[in-house]
Amino acid sequence: MPTRYDATPEQLAGILGDEPAYRSRQAWDGLHRRLQRPDEMTDLPVELRQRLTDSLPPALTERDRTVADDGETVKWLFELDGGARVETVLMAYPDRVTACVSSQAGCAMNCQFCATGQAGFTRQLTTGEIVEQVAVAARAALPRRLSRVVFMGMGEPLANYDRVWATIRRLHGDMGFSARHLTVSTVGLVPGIRRFAGEDLPVNLAVSLHAANDALRDELVPINRRYPLGQLAEVCAHYVETSGRRLSLEWALIDGINDRPSDAAELAAFARPLRAHVNLIPLNPTPGYLVRGTPPGAVRSFRAQLDALGVNATVRITRGSEIAAACGQLADPQRSPVTVRRGGPDPA
Ligand code: SAH
Repeated sequence: MPTRYDATPEQLAGILGDEPAYRSRQAWDGLHRRLQRPDEMTDLPVELRQRLTDSLPPALTERDRTVADDGETVKWLFELDGGARVETVLMAYPDRVTACVSSQAGCAMNCQFCATGQAGFTRQLTTGEIVEQVAVAARAALPRRLSRVVFMGMGEPLANYDRVWATIRRLHGDMGFSARHLTVSTVGLVPGIRRFAGEDLPVNLAVSLHAANDALRDELVPINRRYPLGQLAEVCAHYVETSGRRLSLEWALIDGINDRPSDAAELAAFARPLRAHVNLIPLNPTPGYLVRGTPPGAVRSFRAQLDALGVNATVRITRGSEIAAACGQLADPQRSPVTVRRGGPDPA
């Protein structure tokens, strides 16, 4: 049985059997445009609602929900079929509402400073499992409209390329998101970026750089040993040229590691030819990495150095750090080396 958002239009039509074709269109739009559960689709006869409810179970079982920032940040812990767990975060700002979704349960990229990487890889998410995270977040955002989706939760989206791209198509074609409001963040998988650059929707790309010399990046982001900076710069230039979009570079500022003047100079040399925008994220603490984030004064000075070198940089406002919902803090609490603090009861 497919899950609610894994069912194809054909499967939906199959479930509705000999009903007229417009019924499956109604059900599809109910799920995607109106974010309804089958039992809420009052434009369908009761019997059909029941049939859809029975045939299309949700993929996500909520195991925990924590709220921070005066209700403006919400983090869900969902259990999937087979027991894997993922997290989804909703962030409300004055001018936008953003959902941060997971594309894999765990991650195989092994970045030491990231809680997801510390816990290892469990499995790929299906398209329906990713789309349903967006649907849940969009419902919770009401009456405000979920305006952006970022693939910056657990996992490496370009290592689950086909399902992530199918998700993007669904968000764009069926849920009404403009491609410009969708962002995929990657550790820097060069073949994946090349493919991404060839797609026909101008989705934003963010590259998690963190170091702009190979020796340091080999340590911080181990996949750099396979796809070193020279190749990364080349494929980023290709993306910028073909998409016409501005590239973002993410840089988690780690005290004494990548926040020196030489780091700013190397970053500027990488970013400038790409005319990339730099997102500075003071490192958020994780259980398995005992180095701290750059203190606020040094963050300001790093930013000023980039500015002086002609690079546009902003400091990302940290959301949800007290509920371990901030960048790099998402982890399955059953698998992470040290259990993160949670607000809700332990379901296990
Ligand atoms: N795998 C993708 C998607 C994860 S996005 C990627 O690497 O881009 C999560 C972002 O948070 C990435 O830029 C990641 O490098 C960054 N991040 C990871 N751990 C962090 C931490 N402890 N503090 C701040 N940012 C972190």
